[in-house]
Amino acid sequence: MLTLVPLPAFDDNYIWVWHDGIHAMAVDPGDPAPLLDFLDAGGLTLSALLITHHHRDHTGGNPLLRQRTGCAIHAPDNPRIPAVTHVVRGGDIVHIPALGLRFDVIATPGHTLDHVSYVGHGCLFCGDTVFGCGCGKLFEGTPAMMAASLDAILALPDETRVCCAHEYTLANIAFAKTIDGANPALLERERADRALRAQHRPTLPSTLALERATNPFLRFHDADMTAFAARRLGRPHPTPAEVFGAIRAAKDAWDG
Ligand code: ZN
Ligand code: FE
Repeated sequence: MLTLVPLPAFDDNYIWVWHDGIHAMAVDPGDPAPLLDFLDAGGLTLSALLITHHHRDHTGGNPLLRQRTGCAIHAPDNPRIPAVTHVVRGGDIVHIPALGLRFDVIATPGHTLDHVSYVGHGCLFCGDTVFGCGCGKLFEGTPAMMAASLDAILALPDETRVCCAHEYTLANIAFAKTIDGANPALLERERADRALRAQHRPTLPSTLALERATNPFLRFHDADMTAFAARRLGRPHPTPAEVFGAIRAAKDAWDG
């Protein structure tokens, strides 16, 4: 019997922890303190970390956690990620024997070039690639690269639980309403997620079905997002990657 927990860290990060009451794994522990406290409180042994990309808010806990627990650290090939024991690439499979878990690694460049996501047991750990109703900023990659990464995620089943690394959902919904305000699924999501946040509960994990219905950054193949992009770009028939790029540019401008 496995339990999945989003541990809050910093202002808005989540460290996803999966445990069986004895062993645990965690994703992207930027800060080791909340994870060590959680392990101590539950008497849990940390077996492994999965790291999605090199940003410090996802990797800062690696050295201390490795030193304290001897855990395996699976991460993409980047010298900026500390204390890695197992380098992963898209197409690899990661095994966590203590928990009987296995994950497929998918390359999801865009937010950073090294970004990977982990898929297994009905969950997607997507770091800063997909957020609730949003997606990561393109710090290193191109719109076409990110659109291809999102297409790989869109190929997963509807019921996949989407475990993002930040609680940005309400702000993302506010933006989504500026370009998709007549979408009833989006308005329903706003009601539901506002209620969760009013009780200081996570809006995550969401499901891929909900993201498909409400997240403009996953709808770059849709006619209404294509129409939005055509208006913004001032020319007809943008490609799906151009539609994605136009939505991303609109969000960057909205963020100011
Ligand atoms: Zn990041
Ligand atoms: Fe981040």
